Amino acid sequence: MVFTGAGVSTESGIPDFRSPGGVWDRYKPIDFREFVRDPEARRETWRRGLQTYPVLAGAQPNAAHQAIAKLERLDKLALLITQNIDGLHTRAGSSSERLVELHGNAHGVRCLDCEADYGREEVHQRVLAGEAEPPCPACGGWLKPTTVSFGEAMPVEALQRAERATRECDLFLVVGSSLVVYPAAALPELALRHGAPLAIVNASPTHLDQTAEFRSDQPAGQVLPELIKQLQPRLLARQR
Ligand code: NAD
Ligand code: ZN
Repeated sequence: MVFTGAGVSTESGIPDFRSPGGVWDRYKPIDFREFVRDPEARRETWRRGLQTYPVLAGAQPNAAHQAIAKLERLDKLALLITQNIDGLHTRAGSSSERLVELHGNAHGVRCLDCEADYGREEVHQRVLAGEAEPPCPACGGWLKPTTVSFGEAMPVEALQRAERATRECDLFLVVGSSLVVYPAAALPELALRHGAPLAIVNASPTHLDQTAEFRSDQPAGQVLPELIKQLQPRLLARQR
């Protein structure tokens, strides 16, 4: 089981949240209730999107994403849980069957009323053409990027699936997460309680470092390919 956070994507040029110069240094998050209540919050969402989304849209998966996709091809991945919204695991070749995006995905837009889906680029084109708060073409409802906002419920099914797989896994690998926000903080603890060893690849310390059987503070893009390289002969030998 692999659990990833913003740190798996920094080597793709997407800043994480909690490092200095990270996203929180620049933007105060827009709460879901604000989004629903305040037209200015909705306009600000789209204005920000125009600034920040091109970084996500243009980013390429790095060696860490690719190593995780390879783990799946070696049939050694039960489930990949990510907090990231950048879609880079998918672009690296991880399959949707083995991927849970706990915080949604920045590439889509959905109507809060009729739930019709649209591409982010096409909605951005409308904003650029002068619609500060573009309504749903089908029903006139509010459109919102398919990322989970602060104050918005996390997808229940995705969370349950993540918890189920965590209880059943035989190894829980954390990559690039500070493990401070829920459920990031809770899932590795759940794995530990169910007897799975913990491995943590994260540049800065986490509260679970003492309990981990493997710990690296080196860049994920270097550590993960090396881990796979060392594992691969053993995995292939076992399959024979
Ligand atoms: P975080 O910012 O709290 O923690 C990221 C961790 O990764 C840090 O502890 C940092 O030391 C470590 N790190 C940075 N670069 C690394 C590297 N190359 N190798 C190894 N470790 C590295 O991120 P989080 O725990 O994921 O939680 C923050 C929230 O931010 C999440 O909810 C996520 O949805 C959101 N977010 C997502 C993206 C994205 O989609 N790429 C980017 C920023 C924030
Ligand atoms: Zn609609």
